Amino acid sequence: MRLFNSPVDSFEFADTIFYVKRDDLLHPEFSGNKARKLAYFLENPPQEINTLVSYGGTQSNLMYSLSALAKLNRWQFHYYTKTLSRQAANSHNGNLAASLNNGMELVELNSDYERITSMLHSTSQQLVIPQGGAQIEAEYGLRQLAQEIISWARQNNFAHPAIFIASGTGASALFLQKHLPFSVYTTNCVGSPDYLTQQFHNLMDQFTQPWRLPQILTNTHYRFAKPNRQLYATIQQINQASRICFDLVYDPVGWQILLDNLEHLPKPILYLHCGGLLGNETMSKRYQYYFNRSHSC
Ligand SMILES: *Cc1c(COP(=O)(O)O)cnc(C)c1O
Repeated sequence: MRLFNSPVDSFEFADTIFYVKRDDLLHPEFSGNKARKLAYFLENPPQEINTLVSYGGTQSNLMYSLSALAKLNRWQFHYYTKTLSRQAANSHNGNLAASLNNGMELVELNSDYERITSMLHSTSQQLVIPQGGAQIEAEYGLRQLAQEIISWARQNNFAHPAIFIASGTGASALFLQKHLPFSVYTTNCVGSPDYLTQQFHNLMDQFTQPWRLPQILTNTHYRFAKPNRQLYATIQQINQASRICFDLVYDPVGWQILLDNLEHLPKPILYLHCGGLLGNETMSKRYQYYFNRSHSC
């Protein structure tokens, strides 16, 4: 399967034109940048494999995309996580429910999680994808995305657009910067700015030649996946102005930090929509629970 060539939309907000690369439209099951990160395996599924293995949180967008990849190839899919909260175990929607529906086998580990997941390794029959898909194979699909961005800029005569992507592992931002002549800006949605820099280096150190890192617009305020009033107001405004639905975990932080830094960035700005909308079912419930607000897209 080949997933590529997502469209670019635009809208105006805060007296600025924003372009949005709609990777959320690539494929419903390989949401957004996870389709890019997994493109190598989608296009070249290893023939001898019968089991896919990964680990991380149970609302992970990558987990869901992996469950779809396993189903497509008739592989078993084992996913390790720390002990589930009752709320997560009982949730009948979002990424967890959809992944279980795709046949994912969930393995709950509590005190053994770090030890067991650190020992996982690929064999001829088992493919291990590290948490968040931060691995060198991700470069393949992100190089394709970079090429699409270069063509878009050329067609529109944009000499120095700013490319913005919200980071989790940072693998997407890092590989995009490797293959783009434009500056890639990002922000740390998970962990501190230093943690994100460390993640960049962990991945880049596996290559012989280093390249310039994406520029981190620092987030020192917003915690990962924690409902926040300011973020909620911002993402509602962006959803309305753009008539595009964004995800509720990464994009509220992404847009907030981007808007806070707007005057310092080259123009125009291309925001990468990384998908993740299935996770909104869970996250909008949390917003409802905390602030009694329902999400409108
Ligand atoms: C996974 C994800 C990201 C972050 O991608 P990384 O390569 O891990 O930095 C950003 N936005 C959304 C919606 C995602 O699902």
